[in-house]
Amino acid sequence: MRIPIIAGNWKMFKTTKEAVAFAEEFKKLYKGTDIQAAICAPFTQLEKLVSEFKGTGIKVGAQNVHFEEQGAFTGEISVGMLKEIGVDFCIVGHSERRQYFNETDESVNKKLHKLFTTDITPILCVGEVLEERDAGKEFEVVKRQVVADLAGLTEKQVSKIVVAYEPVWAIGTGRTATPEQANEMCAFIRTTIEELYNDEISDKVIIQYGGSVKHSNATEIMNMEEIDGALVGGASLVPQEFMEIINF
Ligand code: PGA
Repeated sequence: MRIPIIAGNWKMFKTTKEAVAFAEEFKKLYKGTDIQAAICAPFTQLEKLVSEFKGTGIKVGAQNVHFEEQGAFTGEISVGMLKEIGVDFCIVGHSERRQYFNETDESVNKKLHKLFTTDITPILCVGEVLEERDAGKEFEVVKRQVVADLAGLTEKQVSKIVVAYEPVWAIGTGRTATPEQANEMCAFIRTTIEELYNDEISDKVIIQYGGSVKHSNATEIMNMEEIDGALVGGASLVPQEFMEIINF
C-alpha cells in the first residue's frame, strides 16, 4: 500500500516570520487525511517548521543537500546538519538546480547515496524540457535520468525513495501536463525501476507529479492510477490553497 505524499516546494520564498505565520494558519486548517502532507522549505526555515509541526503529522523537507559528510564547501549544507534539525524529506535534482546550479545526474546520484546514510527520504525530481518533449524524446530522457540517478542504490534504498515526475515545461508556467501525460510517465518510471530492480521494489516507490498543480486540477491528477502524490510549488505558498490541494 503506497501512501500518497503531497509536498509543497517553497523554493526561495518566505522569511522565517512568514513561514511561522503560514504554519500557524496551516495547522488550524489541517484536520488530518490519508495523504502525507509535507513542506519543503529554505534551509533557514527548517528548524522553526519542524518545531511548529511537531505532533501534527505534517512533515518537513529540505530542498537540497551536499553529498560530502563535511568539508571546505562554502555555502553548502550536509545531511548531518539536516538530520540534526529532524527533517523527514529532502528534494534532490530539482530541475531548477539542474538548470541554474549545475546539478548533474552524477551529483544527484551521490546525494541520494549520502541521504541513505540517514533516514531522510529523498524526493528525486526527473523530467524533460520542452524541446525534448517536442522532439518525442521524453521517455528516453527520463529513463536516462532514472537509471543514472539511482545507480548503485540497493533494493531496500530504492523501495523507500520518492520520485517526482516534473516536466520542466509545466513548472511555474501554468501549463500542466494532462493527467494522461503525467500518468503515462509515472507508469513508465515505475516500469523503468522494475527493469532495474524488480516489481516488488517498483510497487513500493511513491511517484508524484509536479508542475503547476493547483486546487482546480489536483483531483484529476491525484485520481490517476499511477500517480501517488504531488510536488507543489506556487500553490503551496498560501495555507488555504495548499490545504485545498491536500483535501483534493
Ligand atoms: P509549480 O512548481 O507548482 O510552481 O509549477 C512545481 C515544482 O517546481 O516543484
